[in-house]
Amino acid sequence: MIRIKCKKCGTDYSFEDSEIEFECVGSDERSMGTENAYSAEIEYDCEKCGNSMRAQFDLWEYPIGAYNYSEYLSFGCTVLEEPNYWKYLQEEPEPDEDEQQ
Ligand SMILES: [Zn+2]
Repeated sequence: MIRIKCKKCGTDYSFEDSEIEFECVGSDERSMGTENAYSAEIEYDCEKCGNSMRAQFDLWEYPIGAYNYSEYLSFGCTVLEEPNYWKYLQEEPEPDEDEQQ
């Protein structure tokens, strides 16, 4: 469950974990193996005041299968509850080696 609160009017909204999708945005080789970085985003317009809200969640997996670190950025909203990061790591996202930039 993810919960955000409108910074303008204070209304809070919740989203199921399944409503966001973590995409692999990078990976690095480190001493214990591969480190993967994932990013997911929620965008929502407040139903009460029309304020546009956005929250970005970043997650690092290192070593593979283990939660290492997470952080988030929020715009126009306050994050009350972060996604269940563990859940995403257990789902073993498919490696996407063709999309390295
Ligand atoms: Zn609002």
